Amino acid sequence: MSVLVQGGTVVNADISVRADVLIDGDKIMQVAPDISPPTGAKIVDAGGMLVMPGGIDPHTHMELMFMGQVAVDDFFTGTGAGLAGGTTMIIDFAIPAPGASMVECWKDWSVKAEKAAADYSFHVAVTSWSDKVHEEMGILTRDYGVNSFKHFMAYKGALMVDDGVLLHSIGRALELGAICNIHAENGDAVFHMQQKLLASGIAGPEAHALSRPPGVEGEAAQRVIAIAGLLGAPIYIVHVSTQEATEAIARARATGQRVYGEVLAQHLVLDESVYQSKHWATAAAYVMSPPFRAKHHQQALWAGLVSGALQTTATDHCVFCAPQKAMGRQDFTKIPNGTGGIEDRLSILWHHGVGTGRITPNEFVRITSTNTAQIFNIFPRKGLIAPGSDADVVVWDAHASRTISVKTHHSQVDFNVYEGMEVTGLARHTISRGNLVWTDGDLRTVRGAGRYVERPVFPAPFRAIGIANGLAAPKAVTRP
Ligand SMILES: [Zn+2]
Repeated sequence: MSVLVQGGTVVNADISVRADVLIDGDKIMQVAPDISPPTGAKIVDAGGMLVMPGGIDPHTHMELMFMGQVAVDDFFTGTGAGLAGGTTMIIDFAIPAPGASMVECWKDWSVKAEKAAADYSFHVAVTSWSDKVHEEMGILTRDYGVNSFKHFMAYKGALMVDDGVLLHSIGRALELGAICNIHAENGDAVFHMQQKLLASGIAGPEAHALSRPPGVEGEAAQRVIAIAGLLGAPIYIVHVSTQEATEAIARARATGQRVYGEVLAQHLVLDESVYQSKHWATAAAYVMSPPFRAKHHQQALWAGLVSGALQTTATDHCVFCAPQKAMGRQDFTKIPNGTGGIEDRLSILWHHGVGTGRITPNEFVRITSTNTAQIFNIFPRKGLIAPGSDADVVVWDAHASRTISVKTHHSQVDFNVYEGMEVTGLARHTISRGNLVWTDGDLRTVRGAGRYVERPVFPAPFRAIGIANGLAAPKAVTRP
């Protein structure tokens, strides 16, 4: 079955050209002006619109069991919501309990993900250290298509790892050609502040932000950058939300260290005032880690994207409904952490990024798909409109507007963090694996249509680092 996307402007990270896009099966066959439609081809009219690689969300948690609750978007509904917003692939996190098998965890996730409507892959978390973890990291990279491992410096007593684990794991990942993802918040500091706030009687959602001030993230970011620097390893810091962490990454990059930073669409446009809501449930709906920040951090994050200190955008889509959030009614530390937005990321980035002149349409593609595909080594299969690439395509209407609302979104969650926000720029059509799955407001997802995407080890940055550092074994000084 072939599809011809006709009359649009193809926008890649490097160049924009007027061209049609011919798709055969699940691959792009041809990108050229005025392609004549093959017999029986389905025509998608892209006249006056932009044709871009589908978004890749490198950070989601579908049906995650977290803080005693299961996130309400599963791999089917979550990827479906993504497709309605132009996102055609997610990288989710397989998170084993400390001490549990990482390989078994990967298998559990792959069963849950069988129902995905769009392509997916998994980062796997390192939540403790042992010989078995060392061995399983090797097995996952060799046999399971995993090239990234997640680490939490936060969530003391649950998922948090200390500097010793980070040193072991980042070193092991380096020798395997895998990259480490880091949630950078000082978990000991957060725990300490949580106890102090509760003891002083501040137990509402506003205390969530107070317990995780910007310095908590800045310290952890600097610390893990220093650790990775000792090892000569590239790292990827997830959901950078502060000026402090952005500056730490920028400084490291300026010295030649290979540090990547990801920013969530939410942190670019929402601020800490959400926790002052008089409605407990509304304030609680915004509880996520890192929390929303004072406004000036938004400017630093945008600047980070523009200057190249931050490379990717994500959502950390991990949604809990009001009755689940209510578990923390008496104690903010028990509010399940997480917000949504997989459907809205591209519109938010377009409206507030391209629409304001902060970023160009090509940069938009770079930060919504191409950089992620390159860092996680699935480029040019993903993140590019070119012959041979996967037929994951969004036809983008840069002039149409919509008002974001829980009433119209496709996620299962009962709240939208952007409620009432009007945005210009939306996905008119989304093509996933060559199938037109979203067209003019009609979502036609198929349960199980998505496929697992293997990600090979040793992406380009590793070769660069290997050359720079020599990576030779240290030698003792020979003395007489
Ligand atoms: Zn996350």
